[in-house]
Amino acid sequence: MIKIATVVGARPQFVKAAVLSRAFREFPQADEFIIHTGQHHDTSMSEVFFQEMEIPKARYNLGINKENMEVGEQTPAFVLGKTVQEISRVLSREKPRWVLVYGDTDSTLAGALAAAKSGIPLIHVEAGLRSYNRLMPEELNRVLTDRMSDLLFCPTDRAVRNLQEEGFGHTSSKIFRCGDPMQDAALYYAKKAKPIVDVRLPDNFILCTIHRNENTSNPTVLRQIFQAFEQIAVSMPVVMPLHPGTRKRLLENGYDFARSPICFIEPVGYFEMIYLLQHSRFVMTDSGGVQKEAYFFGKMCLTLREETEWTELVDNHCNILVGRDPKKITEAAAGLWNEPCKSFVPGLYGKGEAGREIARTIIQNS
Ligand code: UDP
Repeated sequence: MIKIATVVGARPQFVKAAVLSRAFREFPQADEFIIHTGQHHDTSMSEVFFQEMEIPKARYNLGINKENMEVGEQTPAFVLGKTVQEISRVLSREKPRWVLVYGDTDSTLAGALAAAKSGIPLIHVEAGLRSYNRLMPEELNRVLTDRMSDLLFCPTDRAVRNLQEEGFGHTSSKIFRCGDPMQDAALYYAKKAKPIVDVRLPDNFILCTIHRNENTSNPTVLRQIFQAFEQIAVSMPVVMPLHPGTRKRLLENGYDFARSPICFIEPVGYFEMIYLLQHSRFVMTDSGGVQKEAYFFGKMCLTLREETEWTELVDNHCNILVGRDPKKITEAAAGLWNEPCKSFVPGLYGKGEAGREIARTIIQNS
């Protein structure tokens, strides 16, 4: 049996893990188990994904997140150190053949460091993405994780090129262009879309998510972005499943939820998110995953960032980078209400078979 320890911790990783875990179940040689770091831990950010998407229950739930660290130790560095330590403990007990990590969160980096320091080969799914913005914590996580990985699974041609340009061709790491498991998820679960119980949505709306540190940690930036959203919401309804981190920051800054024209809802499960994507006019987001999902569901996307790792969507006129300038946001939004995303490039993110291809390749390389 080929034992694979998958490390997850944050919402986008649960979506990818659902795809891969299902694929591993098709291969009798694969023996995958999950280590959940605890980075996202409550029902709406974690449990609902495991239940609805039938992700195998985590064999280890480390329960590590800022909220249950000692005051003074609630920094990214302390949380990272503790997570590396606890994952290493599991690895020394389980002795897997591989450690598998997804994407670019602190849980990704913790899993990668624990594997590297335990001498266990590392697999990175969603390798090679770059924003070239070193101020993003995610950029550091993905660059460092790629450097430690033995098998690098890239979702796009651009991601492969990025690694080649960084000299990965001269290392023993193996690079594969496998497509994007998030497209597999969008295709596979599209028919399971479900409306949100107890929420009356406007007939037509813009779907909006916002949670990146660069947009929420600075009170002035946060205020300007929400002023733009409010201005848009006066004429075009804005539905926002509110990330707990963003809610916290808005509350700290005295945001007046009661008088806001934005339709705030709790974070939703993936099947409800698909429903929102399917029924939206267009999408405004700073999320990595939601940019692509807008495309998968034929919607235009306004991205509130200065750069994106998913450059092919910008090149194909499906994604407009508006940064965080309120004027640019409102002007761009005004032009999109009647504008579906017309371009679909077959194979841009693979054929919807990324999960199976990754599982097969891992087995062949074991
Ligand atoms: N998502 C969800 N419910 C929500 C918001 C997002 O299921 O209320 C899903 C979304 O469809 C995507 C993933 O979570 O699959 C993206 O996560 P997030 O935006 O938190 O992270 P990022 O992709 O930016 O790393």
